[in-house]
Amino acid sequence: MIRRSFLPAIPEFEKAADLLSQAADFLIAGDLENCGECLVQADLRPLREFAFLIAGPIKLEIHRQSKNPVFDPVPKENRPRMPSLSESRAIFARDGYRCRFCQSRIVVKEAHKVFAKFLPEQARKSRINEDNHFGISTLTGSIDHLLPYSRGGGNEPENLVTACGPCQFGRNQWTLEEVQIENPMKYEPIVDDWDGLSRLMPLGRKSFSFTA
Ligand SMILES: [Zn+2]
Repeated sequence: MIRRSFLPAIPEFEKAADLLSQAADFLIAGDLENCGECLVQADLRPLREFAFLIAGPIKLEIHRQSKNPVFDPVPKENRPRMPSLSESRAIFARDGYRCRFCQSRIVVKEAHKVFAKFLPEQARKSRINEDNHFGISTLTGSIDHLLPYSRGGGNEPENLVTACGPCQFGRNQWTLEEVQIENPMKYEPIVDDWDGLSRLMPLGRKSFSFTA
């Protein structure tokens, strides 16, 4: 049966998004203590477990496949691998900073850098999954190619969508048809006042300080 995402998002996505939003507001207000408290509460292990279920080893019941896709790679020629920064930001804004598959609210990757700049302990940032903040890492959004790049997909806006961590990393190089996931372009994105915490970006600038 066709579906919109590998698995429906668990309630911890919304909980983490709310807490991270509060953390962002506290940080902007210069209240590091309360910001840190919200970050600790948003560090929800079930999100890591959920992400591993989807982005970990291949499971027939989740991926509808039993092995990696086999295909002849489409030559790269002059195709850029990823859209530019401004093109990516336009996609996030078009999609309301939500995963177009599971519809979870995402956060921009710059938000993690900003939190970690002020509160490295509470915003745990690492290349090692266990040492990386479970909430922020799972909710961090990225640009996904509907037709994978390796299979000829380009950077036209119609081929690009916002995806949360599990939806992005679970699909590997399979096509949507191969994993029996619907084309999310069939549904209008949900656009409201959610900004993916992009309001934190000015705090990431070197010159920024709370006393300025
Ligand atoms: Zn998702």
